[in-house]
Amino acid sequence: MSGPTLGNPKNTIEILQKYNFSFQKKFGQNFLIDTHVLDKIIKAANITKDDLVLEIGPGIGTMTQYLAEAAGKVIAVEIDKNLIPILADTLGEYENVQVINEDVLKLDIRALTERENGGRPIKIVANLPYYITTPIIMGLFEEHVPMESITVMVQKEVADRMQSGPGSKDYGALSLAVQYYASPYIVANVPPNCFMPRPKVGSAVIQLRKHEHPPVSVKNEKFLFHIIRASFNQRRKTLANGLNNSGQFSLPKDKITEGIERLGKGAGVRGEALKLEEFAKLADYLWEQIQEGSGP
Ligand code: SAM
Repeated sequence: MSGPTLGNPKNTIEILQKYNFSFQKKFGQNFLIDTHVLDKIIKAANITKDDLVLEIGPGIGTMTQYLAEAAGKVIAVEIDKNLIPILADTLGEYENVQVINEDVLKLDIRALTERENGGRPIKIVANLPYYITTPIIMGLFEEHVPMESITVMVQKEVADRMQSGPGSKDYGALSLAVQYYASPYIVANVPPNCFMPRPKVGSAVIQLRKHEHPPVSVKNEKFLFHIIRASFNQRRKTLANGLNNSGQFSLPKDKITEGIERLGKGAGVRGEALKLEEFAKLADYLWEQIQEGSGP
């Protein structure tokens, strides 16, 4: 046997039957059965033999086989213990693959990168479990995991949110967080029939190329994200009311309004109209007011 052998319905069904595997909905298991999509993901991820690739949720190892062919080393983290014997079978011939049976949200990926790659940036490639897409991606960014890019399959709607800008209905806290850390680019749209079982929603492969430095610099990064989250928590309220009601910090409303007016915006402006640079200015102003003790 040589080269990837999965990625089509026949071989996938064969291996699932051999191990009497039943899909677990709670783990977001939708396995890829389309080699064209796999080729696109691998090409976009631009992997070389110098790369350490982290794959989140290898499933039966379909994409892992492709990654192992291209990368120096692949670490694949899979939560479902029933998949571990299957992975031992499908990945048996690859000496450069390590499978870790763990919940990725509980794993210290930064420490893993340090240990396995001497702190050099890794590449992350995955067909993500959709129920935890946002915590996985935000965790990687917020923990400052050294990485070059994240190339992942996500729900189409989530991909749209990640790459949209002010004024769009999809624009929100996730767009701003992702764009603070990376440049998003949609690689491909993927219909439900490329998976087994078929998900109810459309999917997309998105690549997030990490910025060397964030496009804005702020006095307090955590506070910027408090402000952003608070601004979108109550989408139908004005920004001033949303921030005032958020309970995230205690500043009199006139200080909040002042901060918004300093951006040249009217009192009725909503969060969805502000660019990242404007959120950064607002956050810095409000942070200064808090530091100066302008609280009530
Ligand atoms: N990579 C495979 C493919 O493309 O066919 C499977 C992708 S499937 C959408 C998501 C995979 O993530 C499943 O194998 C699932 O068991 C695994 N998974 C779900 N939650 C996880 C978690 N918290 N940590 C690690 N793996 C998880």
